[in-house]
Amino acid sequence: MNRPVFAGNWKLFGTLADAVALATAVAAGARPDAGAEADVIVAPGFLAIDAVVRALHNLGGGAGAGGGQPVAVAGQDCHWETKGAFTGEVAAAQLVDAGCRYVIIGHSERRALMGETDADVNRKTKAALAAGLAPIVCVGETLAERDGGRTLERIGAQLDADLAGLSADHAARLLIAYEPVWAIGTGRTATPAQAEEVHAFIRGRLRAQFSAGAEALPILYGGSVKPDNIRDLMAEKNVDGALVGGASLSAESFVRIVKEGTDAWSRS
Ligand code: PEP
Repeated sequence: MNRPVFAGNWKLFGTLADAVALATAVAAGARPDAGAEADVIVAPGFLAIDAVVRALHNLGGGAGAGGGQPVAVAGQDCHWETKGAFTGEVAAAQLVDAGCRYVIIGHSERRALMGETDADVNRKTKAALAAGLAPIVCVGETLAERDGGRTLERIGAQLDADLAGLSADHAARLLIAYEPVWAIGTGRTATPAQAEEVHAFIRGRLRAQFSAGAEALPILYGGSVKPDNIRDLMAEKNVDGALVGGASLSAESFVRIVKEGTDAWSRS
């Protein structure tokens, strides 16, 4: 892994002006020369993607030159079809057209609230890769599964289904986010040891599928990540970054997560 990865999932929050202001502040704050040698990603709502991409480009960050950190933009979801009568859906190629480089797929909120299945996640992941996006595929167990001792079994089953049919070539553009459902938006974070146990298990499954390609595949932790817990999480061997919800809605806290997480990662 050359650099850690920090992605902010803005979910269904804010206006266009809020999104532009937040992206601009993140790009300015997480400068590499200020100790943030990381891949930084923001995932606005669909309607704000175009405005955020333009604002980042105008800063010079989009092209990797000038004003700040070259922040990349992600969609929060995409459909598996490329076009057609799918009212309300957004195709992966449309995200590319709008300037996205990443897309979050299979977030537990979509699985729980929108009935998204592993088969859907697999189709969406393949569609994202075909369109040239880097999919951030989310997996995670519920509290009942953890309490029942079924965490690794559940994560293994999700990975098998979600990544079915993907090759080592695909692995070069894939990211996994381990997000225990019981830790998302609850203020309850997995301990570093709990996160590392699952991340090491995920790395093993990825090795079995992608051989050497698994080593550089970023595995992000998500679930109530904050500036005050990122260091301990990033010190773990197989934690390569974070997918951040609530704490990414403040530029100040997200930038601190990027900087402190990058520092802890580079010392580990
Ligand atoms: C998320 O939405 O992916 C997430 C991890 O949220 P939070 O950081 O708020 O728990």
